[in-house]
Amino acid sequence: MKQVAVIGCGAYINSGYGCPGEWRCLKAAALGEGTFNEPSQVVAFFTCECPGRTVVPNLGMAMKLSQIKPDAVYFSSCMAKSKPGCPYTKPEDLAKMIENATGLQVVLGTHDYH
Ligand code: SF4
Repeated sequence: MKQVAVIGCGAYINSGYGCPGEWRCLKAAALGEGTFNEPSQVVAFFTCECPGRTVVPNLGMAMKLSQIKPDAVYFSSCMAKSKPGCPYTKPEDLAKMIENATGLQVVLGTHDYH
């Protein structure tokens, strides 16, 4: 089974107003729905924190401590497709930083659930 890391927007998840990361990304990964082409095992799940500088090192730390290099990294839909968007960085730019640092493919968005 494909192993994936999911990164969510902490400013949204921790606000208490939106999805607190409770099920949407996890359901989409488990069932292979949304942007997951197949049922996938989530081996890391953590949040970005403004202004986004922690994402790359935290992903590196997750891989180091878990001793698992995922097959792909997914930005949650709240991170990749929010309106209005992130005021600090474009998801595409952050994805490129991860791809350059790790060689891992980054998928923008996880699901279309409401
Ligand atoms: S930097 Fe952007 S993506 Fe990261 S937590 Fe803040 S608003 Fe969300």
